[in-house]
Amino acid sequence: MKRFIPVAAPALVGNEKSYVMDCLDSTWISSAGKYVENFEQAFAAFCGVKYAMSCNNGTVALHLALLALGVGPDDEVMVPTLTFVATANAVTYCGAHPIFIDSEPETWNLNPDLLEEKITPRTKGIIVVHLYGHPVNMEPVLDIAQRHGLFVIEDAAEAHGAEYKGQRVGSLGDIATFSFYGNKIITTGEGGMVVTDDDKLANKVRQLKGQGMDPKRRYWFPIIGYNYRMTNIQAAIGLAQLEKADWHIYRRREVASWYYKRLKEVQGLTLPVEKEWAKNVYWMFSVVLDDGILLGRDEVMAALREQGIETRPFFYPMHTLPPYRNLAEKDYFSVAEGLAARGINLPTWAGLQERDVDFVCEALAGILVSAQRAVS
Ligand SMILES: *Cc1c(COP(=O)(O)O)cnc(C)c1O
Repeated sequence: MKRFIPVAAPALVGNEKSYVMDCLDSTWISSAGKYVENFEQAFAAFCGVKYAMSCNNGTVALHLALLALGVGPDDEVMVPTLTFVATANAVTYCGAHPIFIDSEPETWNLNPDLLEEKITPRTKGIIVVHLYGHPVNMEPVLDIAQRHGLFVIEDAAEAHGAEYKGQRVGSLGDIATFSFYGNKIITTGEGGMVVTDDDKLANKVRQLKGQGMDPKRRYWFPIIGYNYRMTNIQAAIGLAQLEKADWHIYRRREVASWYYKRLKEVQGLTLPVEKEWAKNVYWMFSVVLDDGILLGRDEVMAALREQGIETRPFFYPMHTLPPYRNLAEKDYFSVAEGLAARGINLPTWAGLQERDVDFVCEALAGILVSAQRAVS
């Protein structure tokens, strides 16, 4: 049978099944129940913060964080242009405008040096995204935010357990959001979390996700809220995943170490970095093809696909997408555009074996070598 290596796959190797069965047996299948509370408490502890509020997915987690911070029509929020679309869309849901920031060449995260020139009287804050598992260089971002009175949201959807100077992501800004989609480092199928140390923001998020109900007066709705709640079943899966968080993170870093070992000598590739102040959790081990490579990125991906290896291209920068194109017409984002045009996410998941990584690396190296040969 032909080998097939998917780009991602969940690893449900702990108490997932028994906790879900417990929900079914006890009939606690909706959004009240002990797993919701336990998962929230354990996740707050995991991030090193006081409060964690679960919700349906990482996109609404961002929406809740922005609403809790009071973002509204015509406000501006700075976001990296190289991110998943949800980061920009959540800003748009509030009637506000995402202002795009180009990437750093090394970490691929938003470049803090470019923030200050984009601040206007309407700027309310910054969303940093710890892209593909590498934390953002937070100190310069926090310094700019403090000097200009801006909030900082961490979109940590891709970086559960990543660290900046020994501190877990999620605890670095005013508020942070996570996703538990099926391909994320910790999954609940679909799911999300908002975390913060701030009592007021935590209470606001709780109220907003539960239809806006007054916590002290049942069926009294002083504000317009949403139904953004997570179910006990999702939380049951999440708690089981979180119990094995160290294993999930260890396995991803091990997979990355195999990729480094086998790809570091291969000509034509730039590999991910792990800055001295960072712990990278490698949501996706990614490579960027050098400019001089004679095959296009999509051709390399197609050749890998031929050999049963699934990959993903980097995200399209937000400023190139139809809903956002006009917003950034006169701007330049050459770093993000270069990365997006030549970046590939390789298979990265906790259950991947060393022989799978060998197979991927041999295939990739072979494709690049035969492309060289074809011209010489
Ligand atoms: C996955 C992801 C999200 C959205 O999470 P969902 O749970 O799919 O809604 C947001 N931001 C980033 C950076 C992501 O990778």
